[in-house]
Amino acid sequence: MLDLVIVVPCYNEEEVLPETTRQLTGILEELSVRGTIGSGRLLYVDDGSRDRTWELVCGYAASDRRVGGLKLAHNAGHQQALWAGLEWAAGHASAAVSIDADLQDNVHSIVDMVEAWRDGADIVYGVRRERKTDTFFKRHTAQMFYRLMKGLGGEVVYNHADFRLMSRRALQALMAFPERNLFLRGMVPALGFRTAKVFYDRKERWAGESKYPLGKMVSFALDGITSFSVRPLRYIVMLGLLFILISVVAIVYGVVVYCQGNTIPGWTSLLVSVWFIGGSILMALGIIGEYVGKIYKEVKRRPRYFVEAEAGTAEDQE
Ligand code: UDP
Ligand code: MG
Repeated sequence: MLDLVIVVPCYNEEEVLPETTRQLTGILEELSVRGTIGSGRLLYVDDGSRDRTWELVCGYAASDRRVGGLKLAHNAGHQQALWAGLEWAAGHASAAVSIDADLQDNVHSIVDMVEAWRDGADIVYGVRRERKTDTFFKRHTAQMFYRLMKGLGGEVVYNHADFRLMSRRALQALMAFPERNLFLRGMVPALGFRTAKVFYDRKERWAGESKYPLGKMVSFALDGITSFSVRPLRYIVMLGLLFILISVVAIVYGVVVYCQGNTIPGWTSLLVSVWFIGGSILMALGIIGEYVGKIYKEVKRRPRYFVEAEAGTAEDQE
C-alpha cells in the first residue's frame, strides 16, 4: 500500500509534462526525506491526448519507479479522468492529492495538505487566495458561478477547484457515488468527514493553452448546477404561477376594454405577451430538458471511462 498518490489528469499536456514531473517528484522526494510519507506515486491519467503525452508518461514510468500512468481510451473529460485516477488511488493508497498538470496550483501546498491529513483531516481543500492571474472575464464569471451555486443551495467551497487531498476513507466513500455526471467540487463536500483548507496563490499556466475553452466552461457550470440542484425546476413552477396571476389581471382588463368598445388598441399588448409567454415556455422546457437529459445519461449506466494502457502501476513497485 502506498502512502500517497498524486493524481494528475492530462489532456494534450506535452509542453508542461517535463516540468510537472520534475516539480511533483521533487515534492514526493521532499515528503519522504522529511519522513512524512514512506512511499508515494505520481499517477498521470492521460485523457485521450492526441499529442505525445502518453509517450512522455511511459518514458518517465520506465526511468522512475515513482511515476505511473493510466491511458484512457478516449477523451472522457477532466472530471472522468480525475475519477479514474482517484479510483486507482482508492485501491492502492492511504491518501490521494489531485492537481492539474499545468502547475497553476502551488505544488508546495501538497506538503501542507499532507500535514493536515496527518493531523486528522480526511479532506483537505486547496483554496485560491486571489485570482490575479486569471483574466478579468474568467475571474468574474467564476465569481458569478460560485454565488449562483450558493444561492441554489449547492455545497461548494469558494475558490476551490480540483486541487485537494482525500484520505482512503473519503475516497472510498466517494467511489460509492453512482452518478455519471461528475461534478467533484459539489460531490466531495457532500461526503462530510473532517475537512481542512490550505490557502495558496494561483499562478499562470506553466506552458500550453487552457484545455477549457469558453464553451466547455459554460457546459461545466451548467452541469454543476443541474447535477445537484433541482431548484431551477421549482422556479419554473413559480414563474408559471406568476404568469397565471398576470393573465387573470389581463383577462379582467380585456373584458373591461371590450365592454367599452375599444378592442383594436389592445393588439400591441397582445403581441408582446404572446412573445413573452412563448419565450418563457421555451426557456422552461429547456431547463426541464436539461434534467431529462441528465436522467437519460444516468439510466444508461455507462462506464465512466476505459483504460487502454497502464505504465508503472504494478503492485510490485509499491
Ligand atoms: N483536462 C483533461 N481532459 C480534458 C480537459 C482538461 O484531463 O478534456 C485536464 C488538463 O490537462 C489539466 C486540467 O484538466 O490538467 C485542467 O485543465 P486546464 O488547466 O486547461 O483548465 P483551466 O485551468 O484553464 O480551467
Ligand atoms: Mg489550468
